[in-house]
Amino acid sequence: MNRKQNACCGHEADGRRRSVLKSALGAVALGAAGGFPLAWANLAEAAVLTREQRDKLSPDDVIAMLKRGNERFRTGKMERHDYLAQKRASANGQYPAAVVLGCIDSRAPAEIILDAGIGEMFIARVAGNIANDDLLGSLEFACAVSGAKLVLVMGHTACGAIKGAIDHAQLGHLTGVLDKIKPAVDATAFDGARDSENYAFVDAVAKTNVLRTVEGIRRDSSVLAGLEKDGKIKIVGSMYHLVGGRVEFYG
Ligand SMILES: [Zn+2]
Repeated sequence: MNRKQNACCGHEADGRRRSVLKSALGAVALGAAGGFPLAWANLAEAAVLTREQRDKLSPDDVIAMLKRGNERFRTGKMERHDYLAQKRASANGQYPAAVVLGCIDSRAPAEIILDAGIGEMFIARVAGNIANDDLLGSLEFACAVSGAKLVLVMGHTACGAIKGAIDHAQLGHLTGVLDKIKPAVDATAFDGARDSENYAFVDAVAKTNVLRTVEGIRRDSSVLAGLEKDGKIKIVGSMYHLVGGRVEFYG
C-alpha cells in the first residue's frame, strides 16, 4: 500500500472511530454502549454512523435520538458539525438511521432542527409532506434496501401547502399536490373558523394531514407495513413548531 492509500484508509478508519464520539445520532448509540469519556462526545470530528452502530439501534432508539437532537437544536446546544469530516467519512458508504418525509418549507430543514449531520438521515421533501408512489418508493429504498429504522413524517405549523388546500388554490402542478391534502381538511373536526386565516385550524389540518400520510404509507406500501409489523421499523408522525422549535412526536 503506498503512502497515499495508507493515508486515505487510515483517515477513514480514524474518522469512523471518532464518528462514534460526537455524531448527533452516534453519540447516543455510544452512550448506550458506554466506554468513552463523556467529554469526547464534544469533539468536533467526523460524524457518520457505521453499519454496525446503525444496525444495533431499535426504532425506539432512533426516535429517542431524534428527540435529543431536536432538544439540542431547540435549546441552542447543537453539536459542532465538521461537514468536511462527515463528507470524507461517508463518501464510501452510508448507513442512515431514519428517513424523514417533510415539507419543502425553508423554515423546516430536518437535518438542522434534528441536529443531524451528513450521512445520518435520508430526507424526502415535498409540499405538504404527502406520500405518492415516487415518495413511497424512496421510503422503501431507505428502509428495505438501506436499512433505516424509522420513517418520520414531519409536518409543520403555519404550512403554506395546508393553507393552499384549505383555500382550494389552483396553480399548474401544485393543484395535484394540494388535492392530496384536501381530504385532511374535510377530515379535521374543528370548532371555529375553518379558513386559512385561522392558524389554529391550519395547524389542526396539518396534524390530520400528517396522520393521514402515516396511515397512507401503511396502507399503500406493503413493504413498509411488513417491516413495521416485523418490528424492524416504525412509521411515526410528527409536527415541527416554527415558534419554539419543538418537534412534537405522535407516537
Ligand atoms: Zn409546509
